[in-house]
Amino acid sequence: MPSQRKKMEKFVSGLMARMTLEEKIGQLNLVTPGGASVTGAVVNEGVEEKIHNGLVGGMFGVGSLADVIKIQDLAVHGSRLGIPILFGSDVIHGYRTTFPVPLGLSCSWNMELIEKTARIAAVEASAAGLRWTFSPMVDIARDPRWGRVAEGGGEDPFLGSRIAESMVRGYQGDDLSQPDTLLACVKHFALYGAAEGGREYNTVDMSPIRMHESYLPPYKAAIDAGCGTLMAAFNDVNGVPATADRSMLTDLLRGKWGFDGFVVTDYTAINEMTAHGVGDLQTVSARALKAGTDMDMVGEGFLTTLQKSLAEGKIRKSDIDAACRRVLEAKYKLGLFDDPFRGLSEEHAAGVQVCPEHRAAAYEAATESCVLLKNGNETLPLKKSEKIALIGPLADDQVNLLGTWSIAGDRRDVVTVLDGIKRRQEGDGAVLYARGSNITDDPVLRDRLNVFSPKDKPEEWQVTADPRSPDEMIAEAVAAAKDSDVVVMVVGEAKEHAGECSSRTELDIPESQRKLMEAVKATGKKLVLVVMSGRPLTLNWEETNADAILFAWHGGVEAGNAIAGLLFGERNPSGKLTMSFPRNVGQIPVYYEQKHTGRPLAEGKEYEKFKSCYIDAPNTPLFPFGYGLSYTTFDYSPVRLNKTALRGRETLEASVTITNTGKYAGAEVAQLYITDPVASIARPVKSLKGFQKIFLEPGEAREVTFEITPELLKFYNEKLRLDWESGEFIIQIGTSSEQVQSATVNWQKEAPKRQLQTQPDVH
Ligand code: BGC
Repeated sequence: MPSQRKKMEKFVSGLMARMTLEEKIGQLNLVTPGGASVTGAVVNEGVEEKIHNGLVGGMFGVGSLADVIKIQDLAVHGSRLGIPILFGSDVIHGYRTTFPVPLGLSCSWNMELIEKTARIAAVEASAAGLRWTFSPMVDIARDPRWGRVAEGGGEDPFLGSRIAESMVRGYQGDDLSQPDTLLACVKHFALYGAAEGGREYNTVDMSPIRMHESYLPPYKAAIDAGCGTLMAAFNDVNGVPATADRSMLTDLLRGKWGFDGFVVTDYTAINEMTAHGVGDLQTVSARALKAGTDMDMVGEGFLTTLQKSLAEGKIRKSDIDAACRRVLEAKYKLGLFDDPFRGLSEEHAAGVQVCPEHRAAAYEAATESCVLLKNGNETLPLKKSEKIALIGPLADDQVNLLGTWSIAGDRRDVVTVLDGIKRRQEGDGAVLYARGSNITDDPVLRDRLNVFSPKDKPEEWQVTADPRSPDEMIAEAVAAAKDSDVVVMVVGEAKEHAGECSSRTELDIPESQRKLMEAVKATGKKLVLVVMSGRPLTLNWEETNADAILFAWHGGVEAGNAIAGLLFGERNPSGKLTMSFPRNVGQIPVYYEQKHTGRPLAEGKEYEKFKSCYIDAPNTPLFPFGYGLSYTTFDYSPVRLNKTALRGRETLEASVTITNTGKYAGAEVAQLYITDPVASIARPVKSLKGFQKIFLEPGEAREVTFEITPELLKFYNEKLRLDWESGEFIIQIGTSSEQVQSATVNWQKEAPKRQLQTQPDVH
């Protein structure tokens, strides 16, 4: 509302009129005091004194509500102008109630559920005194070697955009000034997910068309949903470090997209520009500010150099004022100037953390995130009266189920798979549990994975070394398997196998666990694998040798209940992959929205001389985007179209009837893909343009209709103009990116009345 905006501007102008230059720069300073949750290599010194002097605008990594209140009190009552501090944190997939890692959650394709997880995270984190989250992370990721794929929504820009909007809505609610909201921060702008070779913090070089079409849409969707802040990425894009990229942070973000929030750097990213090789701290700090960066995370480049740069005429006072205003406006919108302590109390905080309602949502989230990759001979669901050998280093694990970036998560809240199964057994049902192996036997890797594990608390370690030899552990597991009706093995990655600075060059399940799987397989018992990880893995051996595979990610506090519920058929798996699973590392990047090339391999072929393929592996992934099985079967009718020839801005309705032809009730995600077979530039083989998740009882049939407008036909052409071109379009609806029904339409633009001069239209 304009009057509210005016009121805010008046307030902020009044405040700024009283601020010294130093205090203004202070608002641009984001610090972390160390001690509680540490997420980077350095922490700030002398924080208390800086607060007293008005030199801290925001803070993160503060451990408790009591500390937040104490520090806020110092800022409000112990600094000259009493400007409240903005407290932030990495609330990535829940706060204390930890949900599945975001990549897992994205496999639910359930936007209401995703929004709800963000809402719950906001309720819990705000009760702990935080009002800003460094989330959602929406970096499109097509390289599973990169550990941070765990934090995002997968490989597809359309789905990624819907997730981005849902999360922003969940965090920020309808009214940011309510005390139970979090200011969202979309990150990492831009293209961090395209780091070369999947190596963390690596360089990105990308064509403008690909950038605009495949990588930028989710950031824009978050901004369009009202996201209040944005974090610049660590990487450089085409040679320019993202933190100093004026064309992105100002021309595109503020100019074209109309973003009016503030931009924060990533952790010491200004200082790191020196290592990028673009100048000393003073130079890069000035460059970042002028590019459109407002807040400096941890590095204090702004704090220590901007006054000098101003004196030397390298920046203008108005640059500092603009940044300061944006930060103060964010605080105003959150209601911090009215009362920064509103709603804060230990009782309220204790009441909301992992309360039954939040736990119930965590159960739903963990259930809907699991993806059934294989179910040979209907091995699943299991009977509750069966004797189960439960084997594997993750079967009785709590710590790893929290997943990467679970800063406020508490392992004691986590239900293990062993617990989940035990709680559900009936009659003669029994569990023979054997750990069977360590997550890894490699001591160097073990130390790296235990990076966040306190030395003096072995119960908090992610990767422990069992005192028994590998052979002894395997022997115990094999004995349990022999004595059982069915074997369930829970294997995969530790939580820090994925996440920041956890790039891998091999994506197999670690060797210690493979040896265990081989030994158990040799018993000839039915083998069910539950695989946990933060990224797609290469699962060739597993696909060949297991009877069933349930991919469970790192599923959060209710993972054990959710997995056991699915194994016993209390619920039916409905997750669908949001990243393709490669057959081997050499295929990477492998993603569904690829181009044809000039020498495409004929469909169904694995190899042809002089075609685009490998001599030693198929082009296709092991499990494609959109794939996921159910205990029931869904039949898709042919696609029905309300018209096959369209003009201009008409709307096409494409429908299918989906019938549950099996014996279990279940949910199905119907996916709409569109192909533009002839265009002025080479277009992808298909692109996701819609999806609907529906629930069907056995025998039930439902019509699913997608409304298609020319908006969905648009692409960035050679002039980087977003537009569509007349011609044929193949409309496909199906159960995965590889299994679809299709129909063709002809869609013509209205004949142009007169030739208009068009401007490049970059969104
Ligand atoms: C990460 C960010 C995170 C920040 C603060 C950085 O290392 O890249 O995603 O928000 O630390 O913890």
